[in-house]
Amino acid sequence: MDIKDTSDMLMHDGDVLTSTEVTQFTHPSPGSQNYQHEIAVSKGVGRRSQSLSRNGAGLKGSGLKIQHCNDLLNPRLDRPRPAKYARLPYATAQTGLVYDVRMRFHVEPVPNEKDMHPEDPRRIHAIFEAFVHAGLAWTKTGSEDGPTKFHMGRIDARQATKEEVCLVHTVKHWDWVQTLSSKTAEELHGMLQHAGQPMDSVYLSPNTPFCAGLSAGGAIEACRAVMLGKVKNAFAVIRPPGHHAEREDVKGFCFYDNVSIATKACQREFGEKCRKVFILDWDVHHGNGIQQAHYDDPNVLYISLHVYLNGQFYPEGSFRDRRQAYGDHLHCGKGAAQGTNVNVPWKTHGVGDADYMYAFQQVVMPIATEFAPDLVIIAAGFDAAEGDVLGDCFVTPAGYAHMTHMLMSLAEGRLVACLEGGYNLDSIARSACAVARTMMGEPPDRLHNLKPSNKGVDVVKRVLRQQSKFWSCLYPKDISGHLAGLPHSERMHDIVRKWQATTLWDEYDMAPLFIHKEQLSKSFDNQVLATQVFPTTYVLLRTLADSRRPNYMAACPLLIILHDPPEVLASPDPRTGKLELHNTWLTDTVKTYVDWAVKHDFAVIDVNLPRHVTADDDDTEHEETDNVDYRTREATQLLTYLWDNYVEINESSHVILMGTNTGHGAIVNFIKANEERAQARVTRAVSYVEDVPFQSCKSATNEDLAKWYFYSSLVYISTLHNFWQSEYALKIKKRFGRVSRSAEASISDMLLEHKDEVTATLLRDTAAWRAQNLAQHVEPGNAELIRRPPIGNFALSPSKNIATNSISSPRPPAPGNDASQSGRQAKSPLIGSAPKEPSAPKFAPTPRNGASQNPAP
Ligand SMILES: [Zn+2]
Repeated sequence: MDIKDTSDMLMHDGDVLTSTEVTQFTHPSPGSQNYQHEIAVSKGVGRRSQSLSRNGAGLKGSGLKIQHCNDLLNPRLDRPRPAKYARLPYATAQTGLVYDVRMRFHVEPVPNEKDMHPEDPRRIHAIFEAFVHAGLAWTKTGSEDGPTKFHMGRIDARQATKEEVCLVHTVKHWDWVQTLSSKTAEELHGMLQHAGQPMDSVYLSPNTPFCAGLSAGGAIEACRAVMLGKVKNAFAVIRPPGHHAEREDVKGFCFYDNVSIATKACQREFGEKCRKVFILDWDVHHGNGIQQAHYDDPNVLYISLHVYLNGQFYPEGSFRDRRQAYGDHLHCGKGAAQGTNVNVPWKTHGVGDADYMYAFQQVVMPIATEFAPDLVIIAAGFDAAEGDVLGDCFVTPAGYAHMTHMLMSLAEGRLVACLEGGYNLDSIARSACAVARTMMGEPPDRLHNLKPSNKGVDVVKRVLRQQSKFWSCLYPKDISGHLAGLPHSERMHDIVRKWQATTLWDEYDMAPLFIHKEQLSKSFDNQVLATQVFPTTYVLLRTLADSRRPNYMAACPLLIILHDPPEVLASPDPRTGKLELHNTWLTDTVKTYVDWAVKHDFAVIDVNLPRHVTADDDDTEHEETDNVDYRTREATQLLTYLWDNYVEINESSHVILMGTNTGHGAIVNFIKANEERAQARVTRAVSYVEDVPFQSCKSATNEDLAKWYFYSSLVYISTLHNFWQSEYALKIKKRFGRVSRSAEASISDMLLEHKDEVTATLLRDTAAWRAQNLAQHVEPGNAELIRRPPIGNFALSPSKNIATNSISSPRPPAPGNDASQSGRQAKSPLIGSAPKEPSAPKFAPTPRNGASQNPAP
């Protein structure tokens, strides 16, 4: 059978609109029969009809008269108006449908019943059948009545011409596709993709050139019918799909980029009337072909919502030009076209209606409205639909309907949906039906659960920040542009840590411990602060009280706190995104623990775990928080380093480890890797977990470890943590430690809420030591009278010298850091101090002058 002979074939099952080939796009001229209706509708309903009664596609209501419209405009009639018409003319023209059974002839050359290719020829039939069953489309079979105006109007598909295809693809590409028709099934099977070949994820058949041409031609005709006003909008049920086909490559089941070809064909044919085209791609895969075709065209806006998985989801990259995946949010278009390429790259599978709605409301519709397109084309893949195994997402038919509904508000309703992917026959049929119904004028079904996921919000906000550079409707603006090149700008987390260092030094004599890291970032300055006594003449200036400040090297309890940076709460300017300092608050709850510990004779090592490590070259860009696993690994290394160099060799009587979030992970990892050392020295491990994975402490070789951890730990988990939804929460195992569900949600609130309980436990743990030591205590002197060196005396600049002088082990303070030589240096909290330096001062502490003049009673 010759597939091009359609004489005895049911090609389109029913009515067909008169060929679009012969219809000219014209505005009604005054005096013509349609003109009166046009005016009436535009005045009365406030909306310009595309094709009122043109080609017989008439109103659903009737009797619209000009004088009625004039009555409506009378300002005196402000009382409720009686209904003027029996039915509202909500649909002024039909919805078009392209469906041609011959597109099913592109099949696998050697089909395998048991392993059907997902791009199944039955896909388009499933959709068409669903349309018929839903009463949207009419077919000869099984129906006595003819098609009506309330059915979709059929549009003939045709072959796309070489000239049309080459608007997007190279001649070489066209020629290569044509050669397939002369090959046998065996030859084609042999040509199929091998790993690393340019022919990526396609199958070939002798009918492929014909079907691909029909698919592209169907897309063109659907768009033309809409532009010509023959239908108000159209659905092209076509295959093979097109959005992965690149200029010179077939790819991802695609041969010709149908949507892009239709776009360029319409731009060429209709000129100024179709200058700007908006392509919305909701296929679960990134439309790499469409992006490539219009990347430097300011008149085509391409917005794609797709699963990206950090570039690990199809289409990952390109063999031909060795490029990486380019579906990320940073690909925004080139030159004058900057901003007309918008990628919304989901981080994971499992995205649903709420995230799509959020993206539409925050990014898609604002940008599209500002772009003001003349035609909207949906690259309508339904593989993000619930039930699709390739996409593994959960967009419901109602979700698709709502997206369609929003898109119908653009371009005076000129909307064409062209099928792309979608591999579950039920899912695509249901979804396509919902889209078609909406296009025909039916309101979308109600949506359930409109709460976007945290990950979805992150992605959408990231896109918004990037695109705010190009679109005047998007706020807040990305401030990194304003900051670029400003001198003296510094990340706030570096500044805050310096402030912490200053106050901890000022109030508790805490100074940095030297940490050797290969590449010491600014973020590691002041990262580890410890209570200590300087073995310098500075001690001479101290009172008796100060001299018995607990030292991390001394034989006293040692509290090591590994904590998140302080929380900063701010209400940013809604327009600029800038933070005003008067609207910004900093809460450093950890300090209440430091304060308590020092007052109760605990030595303290305070470890700040930055959420982002400042690199030398990222001075002004927005930075994402570093990955939790990475931060936990870093924190574990740091804790191990501290233990080896500052804890193991010293005399602390009790070691208490306290960690928030990644600090919790670091503590558990450290204990698991150092079972014996940890069990011998750690008295208590306290964890606060808000938004990181919750870890258990179990050893493959030591059964007692979990038991020991249970009796030695206190673990508080945020009330909102996912753990409480897991099966582990039903009966919590000992290896998770002594777990409590906090009534609070954030680290700051949890730290405050459980402070009394934790501190009471720590006092109990150290009670014996305390009883023994109290006897030796000398009453403190009049500490309040001691005048502290002003803050300005401290050197607070980044200690680059530490980085450049890195040595392989902790080192003592440089000789000469002496108060008598330079107050600045001696008092600097940035001096590296030596773990092996004797802890006792060399000189007996002597009251300073002020104290001797005011002797204590
Ligand atoms: Zn897809």
